[in-house]
Amino acid sequence: MSKRVIIVGGGVGGTIIANLLAKKMRPEIRKGELIIDVISDKAEHFYQPGLLYMLFGLKQYEELVRDERGLLDPMVELHLNPAVGIDKDKNEVRLKNGVVMKYDILVIATGSKPAPEMIPGLKEGGHWFYELDACLKLRNELMNFKGGKIVLTIGMPHKCPVAPLEVTYMLDDWFRQRGIRDKVDYTYTYPIAKLHGIDSVAQFASKTFPKRGIKSEIFFNMKEVDPNKKTVTSIEGTTLKYDLLISVPPHKGANVIEDSGLGQGGFIPTDKFTLKMKDSKNIYVVGDTTNLPISKAGSTAHFESDVIVENIASELRDGLTPFRYDGKVFCFIETGLTKATYVMFNYETPPNPVAPSALIHWLKLTYNKVYWLTPMGIL
Ligand SMILES: Cc1cc2nc3c(=O)[nH]c(=O)nc-3n(C[C@H](O)[C@H](O)[C@H](O)COP(=O)(O)OP(=O)(O)OC[C@H]3O[C@@H](n4cnc5c(N)ncnc54)[C@H](O)[C@@H]3O)c2cc1C
Repeated sequence: MSKRVIIVGGGVGGTIIANLLAKKMRPEIRKGELIIDVISDKAEHFYQPGLLYMLFGLKQYEELVRDERGLLDPMVELHLNPAVGIDKDKNEVRLKNGVVMKYDILVIATGSKPAPEMIPGLKEGGHWFYELDACLKLRNELMNFKGGKIVLTIGMPHKCPVAPLEVTYMLDDWFRQRGIRDKVDYTYTYPIAKLHGIDSVAQFASKTFPKRGIKSEIFFNMKEVDPNKKTVTSIEGTTLKYDLLISVPPHKGANVIEDSGLGQGGFIPTDKFTLKMKDSKNIYVVGDTTNLPISKAGSTAHFESDVIVENIASELRDGLTPFRYDGKVFCFIETGLTKATYVMFNYETPPNPVAPSALIHWLKLTYNKVYWLTPMGIL
C-alpha cells in the first residue's frame, strides 16, 4: 500500500518541499509506493516581497504571480480547496468541499497574514503594504501625498521583520527624489526598547535615522486608532497625530490551525531542530506557521524545507530523522532606492549588517526576478 505525504499550503515552504521531495523520491513515486499531495486555497503563487516595490510603482502584479500548478513537479497532485480541519489523532485533513484525506506524514505550510482587525480603528484609519489590495490603496495615497505627518506602527508578530525598516529608508529616498522630503515629518515606532528586535539591526537604525531626519518612538505597542481625530495611541499611553498612518498589523496564522486546536493565534508549537510539531511523530511545520522565535521570512521557510525533505525521505526509506535545522536565516535589507545591506544568522551566530552598497541592492533585485527557481526547488 502506498504512503501519502500531504502538504497543506502552496506558498514558499509548501511548494519547495513538494518539489524537492518529488525529485528525491522519484523511484518510489514511479513504483506507486508514494503519493505527494499539495492542498492550496488558491491557484496562484504570489511573490510577497514584491509588494515592497509595487508600493513605489517599481513592480507590477503580473511580474509577481505564477500559476501554482506550473511551479509544481508533474508528479505532485494539487488540490485547489482550502483545508478546514486537521485531525492529528486520526491523521486526517478535511477540505472545504467535504473530502477527507488520510496522511502518513503531514507538512503544515499555511503561512501567516496581517490581522488589522486586532487593533480597534486600524482597518478604518490605517494603511499597510503586506497584502495586494492594501498595498495598491497605500500606493495611491502616496502618489497623492504632498506632505504632512507620516507615522509607521508595527504590530507583533509579523513576517519579514526588516520590511518596516526597508519601507522607511525607501520612502525617505522617494520623498527626496520627489523634492518634498522637507515637507514630510516621518516617525518610525517600534514596540520594544530598541528600534529592531535584532540588536545589530537596531544599532544600524539608531545610527542612520538621525542622519536622514527620521524620528523614532520606542515602546510603542498599538492600542487603538481614531480615524476621525487621525491619532494612534499606544498601550504605553503615547498618542501620535498622523496625516498618513502606515502600519504593519499584527499577524495571525491560518484559521484552520486555530480551528483544529493546533496552536494559539494560528502558530504551531514546533521543535526548533526537528521542525516537528511538538508531541507529534508525523507532523512537520514549516515557515511562518511555526511558533519559533526566529524571523518569519521566505528564506527561513526555504532553509527549513531542505531539512524537512531530508528527514521525510530518510524516515520513509530508513525510519530515521537525523537532520536538524540550525536556525539559518538570510535577509536582504534595502537601505533606500539604490543601496542595500543583508543579514545572515542562525541559532548560534548573531547577524551583523555589512556596509550598504549598490551591488547588494542589485543582488536583491536580481533575486526578485529569479525567485521562481526557489519554489521549483532549483535555487
Ligand atoms: C511586504 C513583504 C516583504 C517581504 N520580504 C521578504 C524578504 O525580502 N525576504 C524574505 O525572506 N521574506 C520576505 N517576506 C516574507 C515571506 O513572504 C514569508 O515569510 C513567506 O512567504 C513564508 O512562507 P510560508 O510558506 O510559511 O507561507 P506563505 O508563502 O505565505 O504560504 C502559505 C500558503 O498557504 C495557503 N493557505 C493558508 N491557509 C490555507 C488553508 N486553510 N488551506 C490551504 N492553503 C492555505 C496560503 O494561501 C498560502 O498560499 C516578505 C513578506 C511581505 C508581506
